Amino acid sequence: MKLILLGPPGAGKGTQAKRLVELLNIPQLSTGDMLRAAVAAGSDVGRKAKAVMDAGGLVSDEIVVGIIGERIRSDDARSGFILDGFPRTVAQAEALDHLLEQRGLKLDRVIELKVDEAALLARIERRAAETVAAGGTVRADDNPEAFKVRLEAYRAQTAPVSAYYARSGRLSAVDGMAPVATVAAAIDAALA
Ligand code: AMP
Repeated sequence: MKLILLGPPGAGKGTQAKRLVELLNIPQLSTGDMLRAAVAAGSDVGRKAKAVMDAGGLVSDEIVVGIIGERIRSDDARSGFILDGFPRTVAQAEALDHLLEQRGLKLDRVIELKVDEAALLARIERRAAETVAAGGTVRADDNPEAFKVRLEAYRAQTAPVSAYYARSGRLSAVDGMAPVATVAAAIDAALA
C-alpha cells in the first residue's frame, strides 16, 4: 500500500499515520521528521533547512524530493509506505509520480484530512501543552507566528496538490474535525 496523507498543519496526519503503520505494517515517511533529524545531526541539508523551518516556510523542492527519492528506495519501503507531509507542492507531486513510475510503482490512495482552519491554532497550542506536560520539547515551529506562516504556505502551495490528485481520481476526503476514532474509521473505509 502506497499512501499519502494530506492536510494542513495540526490536521492529525501524524496521529493517523502512526496508527496506519501498526495496521498495515509499512513505514511512515515524514519529511518533517527527516528534516528535523538532519537539523539535529547538523548535516548539510539540516543547515540549509533550519532557518526556513523555524520560520514556518517550505524547504526547497530539490531538497525534499532528494530526501524522499532516497528513502523510498530503502528495503523497508519496498512493500509500501505512508507519506506524511510530502508532497507539499505540485512540483513535488509531479516529481513523486516520476520517481514511482521509474520504479514501476503506483500510488494507491491520497487521503486528505479536511479541517476547520479556525480550530487549528487551538489544536497546535494544545499539542504544545501536552508535549510539555509529558516532559518533551516543543517543536520550534509550534508557535503562533510560525504557525500562521505554515498555514499560509499550505493555502498557497499545498492546497493545489489536492486538486492535482483529484484530477487523476486518486483523492479521498475525510472529515478531520471528527473524533480520532471516527477519522480512523473513515480512512479505513476509503482504503478498503
Ligand atoms: P511537518 O513536520 O510536516 O509539519 O514539517 C515541518 C517543517 O518541515 C515544515 O514547516 C517545512 O518547513 C519543512 N517541510 C517538511 N516537509 C516538507 C516538504 N514536503 N516540502 C517543503 N518543506 C517541508
